[in-house]
Amino acid sequence: MTDSRTLTNVFGVIGCPVGHSMSPAIHNHAFRSLNIEAFYHAFHVEKGELENAIIGIKALGIKGCNVTIPHKEAVIPLLDEIESTAKAIGAVNTVVNENGKLIGYNTDGKGFISSLKPYLTASLEESRILMIGAGGAARAIYFSLAAEGAREIDLCNRTVSKAERLIEECPAQTRSRALSLQAAEKELNNYDIIVQTTSIGMHPHVEEKPLNLENIKSSAIVTDIIYNPIKTAFLKEAEEKGCTILDGTGMFVHQAALAFEHWTGHFPDVSEMHDIVMKKLGGTPC
Ligand code: NAP
Repeated sequence: MTDSRTLTNVFGVIGCPVGHSMSPAIHNHAFRSLNIEAFYHAFHVEKGELENAIIGIKALGIKGCNVTIPHKEAVIPLLDEIESTAKAIGAVNTVVNENGKLIGYNTDGKGFISSLKPYLTASLEESRILMIGAGGAARAIYFSLAAEGAREIDLCNRTVSKAERLIEECPAQTRSRALSLQAAEKELNNYDIIVQTTSIGMHPHVEEKPLNLENIKSSAIVTDIIYNPIKTAFLKEAEEKGCTILDGTGMFVHQAALAFEHWTGHFPDVSEMHDIVMKKLGGTPC
């Protein structure tokens, strides 16, 4: 019999594409720093291969994985148990293999909130928040902000009906309105925190912005969850208006750290993870 304690535990990310994923670098660094005998690999899994990949995770005894585009929703029926936050969000980004039982979690929303907290000048309860976008990431962040006590969270989106649906489906009580991008643009001076969650402005369309910030107040905190580029055109405009800005690298490393904690019981050094990400992206944080 082989003693399983002597084997290297394997973790990974499944997605398509995953070739440029920064997750192996940050998780392998954290394993080394904490003297944990483990290795993290990026597994390219095509849409039609997801079920086989999940069977493979069990068969090979892979201890846990991250799940990224396009599998975050499709993986749910293939897992044995879904934690309540992930169930409400309807997406999983972290899987833990507990003795052959695969449990799904979602750390995106909590990761965003952890990255935002050091910048808050008032509590979430007292802040008026505008979210731009109503896609998968927006859903995770909106539900987590509401669960964390935020009450005034308006959502604006190109497709307003998707924002309306998010508000209807949110498990926590909020005073939220669904707005068009144009309506939100006019009312920007109402908001203390603005959370940009659309893919507008992402490489290679780096000049694009979801809306213009003419009416924003300079005391606002403006976050963009995009991290490629690190400082989007949207954040650049907010900085010019005197706002506090926050890029998407913070959310990325915090969601990773929370996943790492689910797998190992240890919370890694987030600032070291952040340094690695910044080096890989070749930039300086906002
Ligand atoms: P998604 O589910 O596809 O949602 C995309 C959102 O962008 C929707 O609200 C969509 O509006 C809007 N949108 C896209 N193109 C648009 C356009 N040309 N004009 C107006 N609106 C447009 O994507 P997602 O998974 O939420 O990801 C969104 C972004 O977040 C991506 O850039 C992703 O890289 C980033 N992200 C970052 C992290 C992190 O850790 N920092 C984590 C997750 C995601 P409609 O509803 O009208 O289509």
